[in-house]
Amino acid sequence: MHQLTISELTSRIVRRDVSAREAIQACLDRIQRVDGQIHAFLSCDPADALAQADAVDRALAAGDGAARQLLGVPVAIKDVIAVKGHRLSCGSKILGNFISPYNATVIEKLKSAGAIVFGRLNMDEFAMGSSTENSAFGATRNPWDTTRIPGGSSGGSAASVAAGECIASLGSDTGGSIRQPAALCGVVGLKPTYGRVSRYGLVAFASSLDQIGPFARSVRDAALMLEVLGGVDSRDSTSVPRPVPHYSTGLTGDIKGLKIGLAKEYMIGGLDPEVKQTVDAAVRQLESLGAEILDVSLPHTDYAVATYYIIATAEASANLARFDGVRYGRRVDGGDPIEMYGRTRGAGFGPEVKRRIILGTYVLSSGYHDAFYLRAQKVRTLIRNDFLKAFETVDAIVTPTTPTAAFKIGEKSDDPLQMYLSDIFTISCNLAGICGISIPCGFTGNASPRLPIGLQLLGKPFGEEAILKIAHAYEQSTGWHDQTPPLGN
Ligand code: GLN
Repeated sequence: MHQLTISELTSRIVRRDVSAREAIQACLDRIQRVDGQIHAFLSCDPADALAQADAVDRALAAGDGAARQLLGVPVAIKDVIAVKGHRLSCGSKILGNFISPYNATVIEKLKSAGAIVFGRLNMDEFAMGSSTENSAFGATRNPWDTTRIPGGSSGGSAASVAAGECIASLGSDTGGSIRQPAALCGVVGLKPTYGRVSRYGLVAFASSLDQIGPFARSVRDAALMLEVLGGVDSRDSTSVPRPVPHYSTGLTGDIKGLKIGLAKEYMIGGLDPEVKQTVDAAVRQLESLGAEILDVSLPHTDYAVATYYIIATAEASANLARFDGVRYGRRVDGGDPIEMYGRTRGAGFGPEVKRRIILGTYVLSSGYHDAFYLRAQKVRTLIRNDFLKAFETVDAIVTPTTPTAAFKIGEKSDDPLQMYLSDIFTISCNLAGICGISIPCGFTGNASPRLPIGLQLLGKPFGEEAILKIAHAYEQSTGWHDQTPPLGN
């Protein structure tokens, strides 16, 4: 049961071969068995999950709701997305036991599609990180090798799908936090175009970059999830009023004549030779499926990491000002209000979050604002223009998702710059506001256990149909996504 895809599960539930209760119970059992090794879940409320499943089963018995797209599908949620009545800690002590008073729009949408929304998935504190080691509640481990990181910041979302603890999950992606952990855990992760999915109920990190998106076991599942999640929302003014295509019907396997770009700027020195070979083989595979491979140039790629760490920290310093011990979460009392703020924020935030707030405050401060923040905004436009120009000639751009496979826990924790560089291939997509997907494309050969490698496809603004179609054709012709980690069963 824990290896089914969404379409396999929903068709069994519709046929009444299995009930929604049995499906969620299988996930809960699996969590019991394996999550001690992985720590993908911060918490989980089995009674609430079973009650949702029973409601689905009752409706079905009464002849209702069989057409719902995610009927009875267990979907687990990153701890940065609000679910009414459940904890919303963002992996931070400062929110601790904060209970959300309302549902994010994506949660309402999942529930109306018949999904069983359950569990709170571990993450880097406030989504700042690439390894899930920055969680205030302990690191998550990679299901393929529990001495390694699962990627981040949505490490729990990727690891839970890889470990078979849920069928799909939600994460958020500001600079790679869906695609990078998806690559390192061997699952599919999709970052939709900025404006495709409502962020109402997503705790903001960097508002001009954040998007919610799905993790899944197959490209078709990611497409089905996006059909449910996408669309304009009056409660998020950045969501865009464009119709949501029926992404899954476009997955024909036929990509003959589609044009795929290869950017030489992505073939950098730090790229692991095994990752490079694997991605080269994937490009040849796309070519053999009939796609035309063309060279494209993204000349401002070198500036992406620096630009991101100015814009993202600036926005984070503003967004995180609300955590002050007055309105949300935990307070450390003492002295006058200014001292109370200091003590609360000093005790509540972890070191990486503090570093980002300090950096962000610096780049926005008078005297430095023009030299850093304003200049970064201009470079951001150049980066976006590079992509728009490339997309005049190609339908998608193919890159590695990450420069290396999963690294060891602790390996990069003392070196923020090395950690930041693990997002080198994913960050530009957020700066440009375009869409991107990571899919499994092979494994490291020599090390045992083998580690997954991810292939990234970047698409035009609102070009999800093209990248899903290409990703699906590749996936179906290779079958890497069928492999599962050698986890104690
Ligand atoms: N790893 C990047 C960072 O630390 C991206 C995080 C994200 O996408 N939320 O900011």
